[in-house]
Amino acid sequence: MKKPKKPETILAHDEGIGYAGAVVPPIFQNSLFTFKDWDAIDEAFDDRLNSFIYTRGKNPTVKMVEEKLAALAGGEKAQLFPSGMGAISAAILHCVKAGDHVISIKNMYGPANNFLVSYLKPKFDISITFVEGKEVSEFEEAIQPNTSMIYLETPSSAVFSLQDLRKIAVLARAKGIMTICDNTWATPLYQKPLEIGVDLEMHSCSKYIGGHSDVVAGVLIGKEDVIDSISVREYEWLGAKTAPFEAWLLLRSLRSLPIRMERHQQSGLRIASFLAAQPKIAKVRYPGLPDFDQRSLAEEQMTGYTGLMSFQLKTDDLDRIKAFVNALRLFKIGVSWGGHESLIYAPAISYLKELSPEQFDALGISLGDMRISVGLEHVGDLEEDLKQALEQIE
Ligand SMILES: *Cc1c(COP(=O)(O)O)cnc(C)c1O
Repeated sequence: MKKPKKPETILAHDEGIGYAGAVVPPIFQNSLFTFKDWDAIDEAFDDRLNSFIYTRGKNPTVKMVEEKLAALAGGEKAQLFPSGMGAISAAILHCVKAGDHVISIKNMYGPANNFLVSYLKPKFDISITFVEGKEVSEFEEAIQPNTSMIYLETPSSAVFSLQDLRKIAVLARAKGIMTICDNTWATPLYQKPLEIGVDLEMHSCSKYIGGHSDVVAGVLIGKEDVIDSISVREYEWLGAKTAPFEAWLLLRSLRSLPIRMERHQQSGLRIASFLAAQPKIAKVRYPGLPDFDQRSLAEEQMTGYTGLMSFQLKTDDLDRIKAFVNALRLFKIGVSWGGHESLIYAPAISYLKELSPEQFDALGISLGDMRISVGLEHVGDLEEDLKQALEQIE
């Protein structure tokens, strides 16, 4: 048997295209595919999942990205989606039916939480138990006879807490419960939920996988039968197809994913260490720090860390907090993360509009919490920027 190729090689090469020797594959920007005769289209319909018939189903450019992401994650198959939320809602709809019970970490991605609580619960009578998720016993105790899904996100991009994927997967498998893991933070390079036993791995490709802040997309990766079922049902029937051009941009992004992640990780660690040493900062949440509270679990299930972290300013005075944020020059204010550019976002900005102060506190987040995405700029410049902005807090 041939030795499996390493990620860098898989991502840098496009094989089997063979179109005029083009080093970059073309974009298959077509809605339909034609066939030479009756038998040819007849055969294509017999093997719909592997045939190009109509771009709401399969498209060659989209398929190239799916194959690379599946190989990277160690999964059998992948389905690309037009957004991370598209992937999340399809995955959940695959796992649940009306009247089921699901378990999720309480700090799951906000819109995914809304989909469960404000949509599936009232419309389809889905009941939900939220757990903090640091102990496997929390999941064990929450299981009911009608539990059909456990939803994980580790590290969570809100509070950076981890769940023990191996133990939770063993528990869920024994009870026939599907597990979904949002793996966006770690990327398929630094954490392999499928190899650990999780059923469905999900990514927002709008973050590190895209990496250039010019694509919104998502992906689900898992066993062939699960992905095929999602492809023909939730993907094709809900009908939000991935645009070939977005897929082509992702092919471009994937070529540099390993090298970008090395830099994000290196700069991330340096910025986290810098922040942790500042007297005006109460705490830094970053799984790559040696004194991170779940460090041994991080080392057990991750092989690298990235550039997204949060820290808490010691002050709760909104004017001082705003002065700090407004003084930053290189860290731009904005949502999302994982691109080439450094960003800062204060969860208080959106949470204060949606939640009561009590609900806000219950999430374990405070006014002075800042989430930063460390980009690809020179790390010395980024450190300087944070230093001068901290000086604005009296
Ligand atoms: C951004 C994000 C999503 C949603 O992805 P979109 O591509 O924006 O729909 C899901 N999970 C996490 C952790 C994210 O950061």
